[in-house]
Amino acid sequence: MTLKNRIIARIRADGPMPLSEYMTLCLLHPTYGYYTTRDPLGAQGDFITAPEISQMFGELIGLSLAQAWLDQGAPAPFTLAELGPGRGTLMGDALRATQAIPGFHAAAQITLIEASPPLRAAQADILKDHTPQWLDSADALPDQPLFVVANEFFDALPIRQFQRDGGGWRERLVGLQGDTLTLGLGPLAPYPALDHRLEDTKDGDLVEHCAAALPVITALAQRIATHGGAALIVDYGDWHSLGDTLQALKDHTPTGVLDDPGHADLTAHVDFEVLAQAATLSGCAHSRLTPQGVFLERLGITTRAQKLGSTLGGTPLQNLIEAHRRLTHPTEMGNLFKVLGLYPALPNAAPPPGLDP
Ligand code: SAH
Repeated sequence: MTLKNRIIARIRADGPMPLSEYMTLCLLHPTYGYYTTRDPLGAQGDFITAPEISQMFGELIGLSLAQAWLDQGAPAPFTLAELGPGRGTLMGDALRATQAIPGFHAAAQITLIEASPPLRAAQADILKDHTPQWLDSADALPDQPLFVVANEFFDALPIRQFQRDGGGWRERLVGLQGDTLTLGLGPLAPYPALDHRLEDTKDGDLVEHCAAALPVITALAQRIATHGGAALIVDYGDWHSLGDTLQALKDHTPTGVLDDPGHADLTAHVDFEVLAQAATLSGCAHSRLTPQGVFLERLGITTRAQKLGSTLGGTPLQNLIEAHRRLTHPTEMGNLFKVLGLYPALPNAAPPPGLDP
């Protein structure tokens, strides 16, 4: 039975399901889930990410975290973690770039939080010169200083959508029309988690809520607040989300979110304000939300590109110039993607390099 038919059977039996349940089945179903069954990244896959575009991305992230580690007195041991590491490319580039930093590798316990078996295998392969450990969730991170990166992780977490109706909300649910999956609205109900959105929305507006992000960001922030460390969270989204941002991508082309369960990537924009507030509640400070292009320029991506380009010519040089443009230009990823830094809320503490308090 296909995943689509399983979802249809479940809706027939139990009624319409929240989008979060639909997303979880599509992305992480043990047998048919999108991430459980494949490596979706790269030119042959469905989408491409910053670390897959150029080694410069992972190198600069690694150097920013390593400088934050030095600035905090080089604690040892510490956890060097990544959430949703994909093929492991970012971590591989970060480790190569930080090789020469005295004590950094010796003190780092490399920890990868990854749900996908094929991607865990790809990570093991690319990081074979290191000894990473894998965890299922951020809750299991050890109680020690934590320097962590998450690139395009939070956008893959399941969201629910709600449409404003007077002083309450109707949830957008996945239901059935005959044999076809369709989106409809559930009954009017209050949702205490959305009370603050009554202030900035009007009748008919749609808001998204990602409950799954909260335990993750809290687990990171608690460790950083208690033991020291820093987090770099990179994703598409904005300080405050409004409207329907759920999207499906297959073969680098947008497709309907209900069209091909388990065979298309599903993501939603990240509401960074919610992450920042949860981090603050756990005792962490957070940086300003900074466009990816600005962050990478501050870290010296242009100098790095010039260095890499100095030995190249022809197509490889053109590819490098194009990669630099894609990562930084405001009409490409430079503005759509944002970076939020977390760091200890101490008088002398500063956010990781590339970010402002
Ligand atoms: N960071 C990588 C990959 C981004 S794709 C890059 O930039 O190239 C999203 C990643 O998050 C994949 O590795 C996927 O398997 C992982 N992932 C998605 N949901 C997850 C979850 N709930 N727990 C752990 N990993 C998850």
